[in-house]
Amino acid sequence: MKTIGLLGGMSWQSTVTYYRALNEGVKEALGGLHSAKIAMVSVDFAPLEKLQHADDWQGISRILCAAARDVQTAGADFLVIGTNTVHKIAPDIEQAIDNPLLHIADATAASLQESNIRKVGLLGTAFTMELDFYKGRLRDKFGLEVVVPDTADRDIVHRMIFDELCLGRIEPDSKAALLRIIDTLTGQGAAGIILGCTELGLLVGPNDTDARLFDTTEIHAQAAVDYALSH
Ligand code: GLU
Repeated sequence: MKTIGLLGGMSWQSTVTYYRALNEGVKEALGGLHSAKIAMVSVDFAPLEKLQHADDWQGISRILCAAARDVQTAGADFLVIGTNTVHKIAPDIEQAIDNPLLHIADATAASLQESNIRKVGLLGTAFTMELDFYKGRLRDKFGLEVVVPDTADRDIVHRMIFDELCLGRIEPDSKAALLRIIDTLTGQGAAGIILGCTELGLLVGPNDTDARLFDTTEIHAQAAVDYALSH
């Protein structure tokens, strides 16, 4: 079994989910007392969030490239970054380490393709929904058509991520708002909905909606387990 490198803390609420899912995945595959081999570095999210909102991606890159190298030094055979948003600087991280990076959007796109979905709704931070690093990759590398909520609804999703979910707050009103936004995207022809923020799965799940949800945390963690167990 390969050692999974996990760059976490963004936020730690979803890193908990990753840690559990990685171990559950290995246990499911190998049985008994098997668990995942993980080398993890978990960063302080507060300064990174400030840099995100100050549009200082170089500053983020400096911090996370150093952290990614630390994960490698700790014995990781490959890396997963436990957040969609900072995949904006994934090319820098790939340059900074020798080991492969398992990109969260690639794992998600593979799952969508397995389900024969071509048009998909994307929910996440404003950075993920608006900038091209994520939507563009889904479009150009995988031929997916991506729809995002309108400006007002993007703002609602962005705020619930930073003001609530990253702080561990689960609010029923936000859940209702998110389900309404999912319905709107489905009404626009989205055959699947990407929970493209690693905390969104804390708020909604398959039992809450008829829409087909693609939870990037679960998908990314399973991809890491499969890779760790591959030859
Ligand atoms: N974890 C979130 C994501 O998947 C948002 C936090 C962040 O900005 O990194 O995008």
